[in-house]
Amino acid sequence: MTAPNRESSPVRQIRDQILQRRRFLITSHARPDGDSIGSQLAMAFALDALGKEVRVVNVDPAPDHYQEFPGMDRIEIASRVAEARVDAVIVMECSDIGRTGISGLEREYLINIDHHAGNQLYGALNWHDDTAAACGEMVFDLIQELAVPLTPEIATHIYLGILTDTGSFHHSNITPRTFDICRQCVEAGVTPAVMARRVFDSNSFGKLKLIGALLDDMELADEGRLAVMHLDDEMLAATGSTHNDTEGLINLPLTAREIQAVVFFKVTESGEVRVSMRSKYDVDVRQVASEFGGGGHKNAAGFTVTGELPDVRAGIVQRIVRAIADGLQTRPV
Ligand code: AMP
Ligand code: MN
Repeated sequence: MTAPNRESSPVRQIRDQILQRRRFLITSHARPDGDSIGSQLAMAFALDALGKEVRVVNVDPAPDHYQEFPGMDRIEIASRVAEARVDAVIVMECSDIGRTGISGLEREYLINIDHHAGNQLYGALNWHDDTAAACGEMVFDLIQELAVPLTPEIATHIYLGILTDTGSFHHSNITPRTFDICRQCVEAGVTPAVMARRVFDSNSFGKLKLIGALLDDMELADEGRLAVMHLDDEMLAATGSTHNDTEGLINLPLTAREIQAVVFFKVTESGEVRVSMRSKYDVDVRQVASEFGGGGHKNAAGFTVTGELPDVRAGIVQRIVRAIADGLQTRPV
């Protein structure tokens, strides 16, 4: 195999196809987070600037605290796109097309842009870079290739993706490039204090109460290295909070020095258990997630299992304890 030359790099191939095509649909994964919203809307504003027709479609609405960001009102919610009547679908942040939760896309011309390890390369064009701290970093590159200026709206969404996907600059996936892109976003008009307050300090009172209840109920395993949290509808009702209030709660235990990983069990109405994990440094929770059929990143990953929490809990906790032991062997001092 010959080494790819610069002209044939995935980002340039995607640029060329975007320039040749006119109508686009942009989508991302179910239960969108800041990086999926930011990547999609940054791309949408860039395609607007090129005079393209753009639809943004997700299966689930974004959490409330994202609603103030520019362009949120253009996101359509649908679980099926029968006849998209577009020239290409840009899929962001999805290791496989099923992660969109939208049916009918598989017949379209797919442009796959993702930074999750283990991407299935399902697109007509695939750009997969698991060294990117956020998909927003990749979108930044693509927008530069398209020679679209970094407007305040685009910069806001790129910064939003990076701020949230790095866990507000906590995760191990941050590089000098991350800060270089953020610097350019700030120069283009982003105010970091406003972004941080909007994303992280927009809690409802119900959420504050829920934090108390969750921490009260939290258990420790592995001599205090693993925090185990669980959430069900009764806790939401008792604290006057909703599912909308649960984003970010998983990160709280990591603020304790001893805790190396957190597992958060969310019991859903459909009898499934959603498992989210976070970790510090080299504790690899993506590996754990992939063994249970999910995915993510080294320090933030998740999966869903069917069954009752008491039945599945012990096996998952045991597997994470093993990941902690492996990760601590290479722990930076
Ligand atoms: P969450 O804990 O839901 O915030 O997810 C953390 C990270 O893991 C995100 O990057 C998700 O996209 C990824 N992730 C969560 N659940 C899954 C899954 N079932 N399959 C693949 N990736 C997942
Ligand atoms: Mn991401």
